[in-house]
Amino acid sequence: MTKILIIYTGGTIGMVNDAQTGALIPFDFKQIQQNVPELARLNYQLDVHSFDPILDSSNMNPVIWAELAGIIGDSYHDYDGFVILHGSDTMAYTASALSFMLKNLNKPVVLTGSQLPIGEIRTDAKENLITALEIVATKNKGKAMVPEVCIYFDYQLFRGNRAIKYNSEKFEAFLSPNYHILAEAGVNLSFYSNYINPHPLEELRIQSRFNANIGVLKLYPGITPQAVQAITRSSVDAIILETFGSGNTTTASWFIASLQEAIDQDKLIVDISQCQGGSVELGKYETSKRLQQMGIISGFDMTFEATVTKLMYLMGQDLSHAQIAFLMEQSIRGELTS
Ligand code: ASP
Repeated sequence: MTKILIIYTGGTIGMVNDAQTGALIPFDFKQIQQNVPELARLNYQLDVHSFDPILDSSNMNPVIWAELAGIIGDSYHDYDGFVILHGSDTMAYTASALSFMLKNLNKPVVLTGSQLPIGEIRTDAKENLITALEIVATKNKGKAMVPEVCIYFDYQLFRGNRAIKYNSEKFEAFLSPNYHILAEAGVNLSFYSNYINPHPLEELRIQSRFNANIGVLKLYPGITPQAVQAITRSSVDAIILETFGSGNTTTASWFIASLQEAIDQDKLIVDISQCQGGSVELGKYETSKRLQQMGIISGFDMTFEATVTKLMYLMGQDLSHAQIAFLMEQSIRGELTS
């Protein structure tokens, strides 16, 4: 019998109307089978690990990511896979962080949630939960069909470190702008196996140390030296530079000098684009040639969420600056196309 561990962290999905007051209150996922009777028809053994207290996902942080990875690690051999119920707001960050922490994953870890609480009549929660469970249970020649950390939402399965939450109202809340979806749920579940990571040859290894001392500098025309230097002269260890188009910045000499000063103080600088689709191409235009010469790291087509979590993850390992810079530009879990 398929065995799945449901890890309930919180978020809108777990809310029901209180019978007396009508207010939205957290639902007891320990009684999930009574509350979602459709689950019994799946014929899986479902165990539930519920966070206490449950969290709005805006309160997620690297300590909780590590806790999640630990729960998966501790019960890895007891289950066919894992469904994590999570608020949608920071789901793409948690999915990205888990993808980096869980090296050589060969079981599915599917995050899902919903835009409407499970207790609402028009809820999207039941479909998201039921299909996420079916995806986890799907096997190909006895092996998990999707040995990856993914997000399932509104009939689509995304690679976790490629997804972004782009809409706060639509049921279709997520997008994967630079990578094909992994599966789609229609009348049948269709898997796009060419895009799914292969099964690893080695055993799962969990690395859950992060260094969160990073800063973000989002550029805009007219940005002042004070605004730039508030980040470049701060005590962060690394900076994510959110640039224009294919990785371009102003060529103003004070700006370039501020970046150089940060590099001279051993700060890593990663260039990602403000455009959701497409990739950074350092050196394509005059306005990014200088950045390339200075040793600024290309984030290629990584999402902001993947860049933040990958940088924190790599900086948390015992790696030299040169190794971090090298790995930031490589795909380590399918998070970028270089
Ligand atoms: N604020 C909620 C959360 O991210 C929204 C949701 O569950 O979708 O926890």
